Amino acid sequence: MRITKGIAASPGVSIAPAFLFIDDSADIPQYHITTADIPAELDRFHEASLLAKREIEALRDRAKLEAGEEQASIFDAHLMMLEDPEVLDQIERSLNENLFNVESAILSFETEMVDKLSSSPDPLIQERVSDVHDVIRRILGHLLKKERISLADLETEVILVAKDLLPSDMVGMSRSMIKGIVTESGGRTSHAAILARAFEIPAVLGVGPNFVEQVKPGQSIYVDGDKGVVAIDPDEIFIQREKAARVARIQREKENRELRSIPAQTKDGTRISLVANIEMPDEVANVIEYGAEGIGLFRSEFLFLGGHVPGEEEQYKAYSKVVQAMEGKPVTIRTLDIGGDKVLPELGAMGEKNPLLGWRAIRFCLEKTELFKTQLRAILRASIHGKIKIMFPMISTIDELIRAQGLLAEAKWECKAHGYEIDPNIETGIMIEVPSAAICADVLARSCDFFSIGTNDLSQYTLAVDRGNQKVAYLNEPYSLAVLRLIRMTIGYGEHAHIGVSLCGEMAADPASAVLLVGMGLRSLSMSASAIPAVKRAIMSVTIEQATALAHQALSMNNSAQVSALLASKLSL
Ligand code: PEP
Ligand code: MG
Repeated sequence: MRITKGIAASPGVSIAPAFLFIDDSADIPQYHITTADIPAELDRFHEASLLAKREIEALRDRAKLEAGEEQASIFDAHLMMLEDPEVLDQIERSLNENLFNVESAILSFETEMVDKLSSSPDPLIQERVSDVHDVIRRILGHLLKKERISLADLETEVILVAKDLLPSDMVGMSRSMIKGIVTESGGRTSHAAILARAFEIPAVLGVGPNFVEQVKPGQSIYVDGDKGVVAIDPDEIFIQREKAARVARIQREKENRELRSIPAQTKDGTRISLVANIEMPDEVANVIEYGAEGIGLFRSEFLFLGGHVPGEEEQYKAYSKVVQAMEGKPVTIRTLDIGGDKVLPELGAMGEKNPLLGWRAIRFCLEKTELFKTQLRAILRASIHGKIKIMFPMISTIDELIRAQGLLAEAKWECKAHGYEIDPNIETGIMIEVPSAAICADVLARSCDFFSIGTNDLSQYTLAVDRGNQKVAYLNEPYSLAVLRLIRMTIGYGEHAHIGVSLCGEMAADPASAVLLVGMGLRSLSMSASAIPAVKRAIMSVTIEQATALAHQALSMNNSAQVSALLASKLSL
């Protein structure tokens, strides 16, 4: 047995055989050829295309049976591309001109196509980029004789072991088969961690380099997402512990069900609204199960991360499904937060030197205005089915907010012009997740209806700590004085302007932090649905006076460790 420690990223304990998820798409060999090699390279291309064609035809037939004509037509578009004589012409020309192997020719063809399509102003043409990627990956897979790994088709229960997991890897994966996740990189607030918690999959991230190399496919792996421990080939003691943890989990689930219908309030009756964060529409069942009073953050970009860009109609259906299921409870939809670690090659949001400081979220949407307005129209149309609020991510200046509001006004006008009814009183708010927004929140408050503090990014940008980099994760302290001060500042400006202030970063999901935040003045917290019962219990254990005094003391401390010690000594959670 070998034990490794990492970051406890998603609670729960699990044991299952390892499934190694290794993305080797970067490993495409590139080498020189001579003119005499060209016919053989073309033959290889024909053979790989033929295999890809057969595969796509089978997928099309399966999609037609399982999902209907509309979904199947995606594969018709792939077949058309494979059969396009222009593609063959371009590959042949590239082989002759550059004298590099056919894989290189295909990669240059892909880059050229992606540049061309993604610079088109028409979102429908931009959407074709994902088709290009899909077809190219399929052909390259056959050329290199590599099995395409899909996390959607797993048939047995496994622990997923990977160097890193992108949000797009996790969308569409077979959640019932993945019993645990271990990755070499990533931290508690990385998107892989957030998704693991949303899907209730135990996860230990950031176990450090070369872990994947130590594991053999199928080898037994034990994941303790509560303690951040991973064991390869666990012994009997570990296995017994897993059994005990399972019994405790079942008991906890029973208690949580009992707590569901009790409102969250302090001992002396101050009501706190506990709402949920979701990534995909099908998490709504969980939101209801845990008794959330609404959705405080719908990370809408996850609809875009499955390798296909949804159009207005598809988005309208997704938002409507969520808002209808919530039966009048508020649903805050955050507009597309793409960029950073959520790369979307289909839309050209990639390849920056400093993606977290780059073309991300609202910055991206203010440039891709058609894509942005398509989303806004879909949200506006869904607003008649319940109570929707719109939230803009990564606002860092008032000018961005004004421009976003301007495009929203255009989208409203377009909806009306098409005869769509919309909620005339729809509220708009912003994430406070960039230090400049917290510092200037008084100015921003004049142009929106609410704030939601995103501590995951606010900490990352305030402390200059990449939230997904395990090497510097130790600096991302839970109670950084600087971040606490920015939170306090935002709450103060929000109160002064009489607008709602909530907090939807991972900090809200920690019971002791939740008490601290209530003491600092917050009356609404948004978190993964499964965290609600424990946070509710913590809030019910104090009076508002105790929470306020605790916050006052915490803000006078010098560092995070002192605040942790204070909370541990005053709260028995
Ligand atoms: C945040 O930054 O705190 C937040 C809630 O947004 P995300 O985690 O999606 O970046
Ligand atoms: Mg954020």
